[in-house]
Amino acid sequence: MGPPGAGKGTQAVVVAAALGVPHISTGDIFRANVSAGTDLGREAQRYMDAGEYVPDSVTNAMVRDRISQDDCRPGFLLDGYPRTLEQVNELDMMLLADGLHVDRAIELTVDTDVVVDRLLKRAEEQDRADDTAEVIRRRLEVYADQTAPLIAVYAERGVLVQVDGMGEVDEVTARILTAIGA
Ligand code: AMP
Repeated sequence: MGPPGAGKGTQAVVVAAALGVPHISTGDIFRANVSAGTDLGREAQRYMDAGEYVPDSVTNAMVRDRISQDDCRPGFLLDGYPRTLEQVNELDMMLLADGLHVDRAIELTVDTDVVVDRLLKRAEEQDRADDTAEVIRRRLEVYADQTAPLIAVYAERGVLVQVDGMGEVDEVTARILTAIGA
């Protein structure tokens, strides 16, 4: 967890590889569907372009399908999900059906000004439609409003790990791996 631009995607790839589990990014799956021109992609794109969340029903069904695949049996790392309270509840139910639960929730803490700079830089490099200044502002608002409150939920469960997300990529990775005892 962490605001847009905190470095979740970059770190999640490396940490999943270190743990030997699949990296499941809902944002990546949506973008792949947009590129492939699927119905899911068409549905998701209008929300993504506006910096809004894709409806929970769509996102939850996609995650349910993904984590039921064989490669997820040893475990998996979710990147960018859950992002709403309804997603938390739905994920709990998906896991509970198999007697599982979330082992750890990792929050990358960052300075918001730095985040905005990172996102604007990424906009230039990757040409993402949702990285314009206006959409970035909206994405940060939506995060503060809908996702930041979930941090308390995982803290109460005693599974939250907070990691300083500022600094070089390798430094942050090392902090995460240390914090989760990997
Ligand atoms: P990300 O790459 O994780 O920043 O996601 C990019 C965009 O995909 C978000 O701004 C949302 O529009 C959409 N998205 C990704 N994950 C979710 C989610 N868990 N719930 C709703 N929308 C999502």
